[in-house]
Amino acid sequence: MKEKKKFKTETKRLLDMMINSIYTHKEIFLRELISNASDAIDKRHYLSLTDSELSAPEYKILIEANKEDHILTITDNGVGMTKEELEQHLGTIAKSGSKEFMEAVAKENTPEVDIIGQFGVGFYSAFMVAKKVDVLTKSVKEGKAYLFSSEGLESYTIEEAEKEDFGTIITLYLREDTEDESYSKYLEEYEIRELVKKYSDYVRYPIQTWITKYDDVKEEEDKDKEDKEPKTHVELETINSMLPIWKKNKSEVSEEELNTFYKSKFMDYQDPITSIHINVEGMLTYNALLFIPKKPLYDFYTDRNERGLQLYTKGVFILDKCKELIPEYLRFVKGLVDSADLSLNISREMLQEDRAIKKIAGNVEKKILSELGRMLKNDREKYETFFKDYGINLKYGLYEDYGAKKDQLKDLIILQSYNQDKKITFAEYKEAMPEGQKAIYYASGENKDAVGKLPQMDLIKAKGYDVFILADDVDEFMLQVLKEYDSVPFKSLNQGDLDLIDEEDSKKIDELKETKKPLLEKIKAALPNVKDVVLSKRLVDAPCCLSNDSGLSFEMERVLKNQNHTEIKADRILELNPNHPVFAKLEETYDNDEELGNTYAKILYTQALLMEGILPDNPQEFGKDVCDLLLKK
Ligand code: ADP
Repeated sequence: MKEKKKFKTETKRLLDMMINSIYTHKEIFLRELISNASDAIDKRHYLSLTDSELSAPEYKILIEANKEDHILTITDNGVGMTKEELEQHLGTIAKSGSKEFMEAVAKENTPEVDIIGQFGVGFYSAFMVAKKVDVLTKSVKEGKAYLFSSEGLESYTIEEAEKEDFGTIITLYLREDTEDESYSKYLEEYEIRELVKKYSDYVRYPIQTWITKYDDVKEEEDKDKEDKEPKTHVELETINSMLPIWKKNKSEVSEEELNTFYKSKFMDYQDPITSIHINVEGMLTYNALLFIPKKPLYDFYTDRNERGLQLYTKGVFILDKCKELIPEYLRFVKGLVDSADLSLNISREMLQEDRAIKKIAGNVEKKILSELGRMLKNDREKYETFFKDYGINLKYGLYEDYGAKKDQLKDLIILQSYNQDKKITFAEYKEAMPEGQKAIYYASGENKDAVGKLPQMDLIKAKGYDVFILADDVDEFMLQVLKEYDSVPFKSLNQGDLDLIDEEDSKKIDELKETKKPLLEKIKAALPNVKDVVLSKRLVDAPCCLSNDSGLSFEMERVLKNQNHTEIKADRILELNPNHPVFAKLEETYDNDEELGNTYAKILYTQALLMEGILPDNPQEFGKDVCDLLLKK
């Protein structure tokens, strides 16, 4: 019995788009259908490992063109589909990729060309070239055959059908050629061969098509039949090279080949920044191909982006995202591992415990880091571009697990240098340190300008010291985990003793501290939120600034506040510059009018807060104090 069913709304929308597509790369339909066929064979092969009844003598994908009827068919002997599967997989879009695709298209200004390559649009892409699609399939699970048929508009039909072998035949009734678009070209041997080479060369199963061959003609015959057409016959020929690129010897694979492979496998339209090809033989034998995408792929920032490498064993696909193969901080790396030393029946649970997997993962991580190190050394510009997109992952990697990976990662970090106006490594900072500099300084700030204006910078500039400008939330946490680089400690411009003024001046201030103690205590009493009021050793031109003890910094307070931990606050220490005229004025005011002295102290404190980018607790009071001051005779 023939059943007629309507497509779900979302599916319809996708179909509409496919049918009306002005997309110029319609040819990808073939890649999509071949890839489905290959997946279906993978599945059958996998099942046959435990149930030999299901195996086929030879797995293959057959492409046949029928020029007369304007029909192209793609035949596979994979798992096939049950009736439910036909409805589920072809009647509905269940696939996140397609949804994602539509959302991206719905957004204005997204060039279609860019996005289509990034999404596997799957089966429906057939409707870009076909006015009608038939799917005749017989599932290994059911043993019954069904015919799904659709003209891609509103509905599809499903009916029982006859088919001898397990597998699927997709029949495309190609559209008529138009002035702008040729569909009949997909029936040409040449075109089919080109498309398979371009997109599906590494499919592990033979992709075959009928190829015209010229008959051998004997010379005498040749003379008689000079004017006649040469005789031909057709032969079934395998047109893909099959040997997975990762199994080839590293030296036999060109960068171009790796790039092409990467793009078709991982649905990117740009070459990767770098590719790593690993062939290991010995106690543990495996091949791996790793890629860093030029830009994070479209789903990188979504929940759906699980980390992981594809896992194969002996060329059989096992799973798509094996997260045990790659640490979280390298989740931007795409790729695959194929090892002969893993059991085909390995389960997800067993992966975590598997010694071979652990060993491969350790090796993969090492290779990636050494490749990054090489890039940093040999191609700085490329590394900087890489770091812009992915550096934050390395920073988190360094910070995680109390810095367990710090030794592997510290030399891959680059941070903005104040003096050099570009991102530099810790080693480069150290290298440029003038004699006598005892710490690596850092400050948080939006940019060079903002940091340059910090009151604490005067002394630093006078000494010619460099300062790292921290911009990412994780930066300061990372430096706290590191504590030092090559025995030089990290120091925040806001924390602790900066070691910037010479001993004599320092002593002078210490002495002054004693004599000014009563004044400092009065000020402290006026400022309940302040932990201490001290004479500053870090100021030259400014009257005051804010600092804190080691521990939680203002920047960390801000980061935590953004994560809704508003209760956690950094200590606030008000530092006053004893050499600034404002200090003398403050002292004088306290002598004559203590209340007014308190008002001045509050204003100075608020000023110090603002310079740190912290809003005062009570801005109204600050406003009123300033007005009162302005009105004072
Ligand atoms: P995707 O392949 O990305 O999941 P598709 O729209 O191309 O998305 O296909 C949807 C589903 O239909 C596949 O996941 C698969 O389960 C099924 N399918 C498609 N083609 C075949 C085929 N030739 N043999 C068996 N199943 C198929």
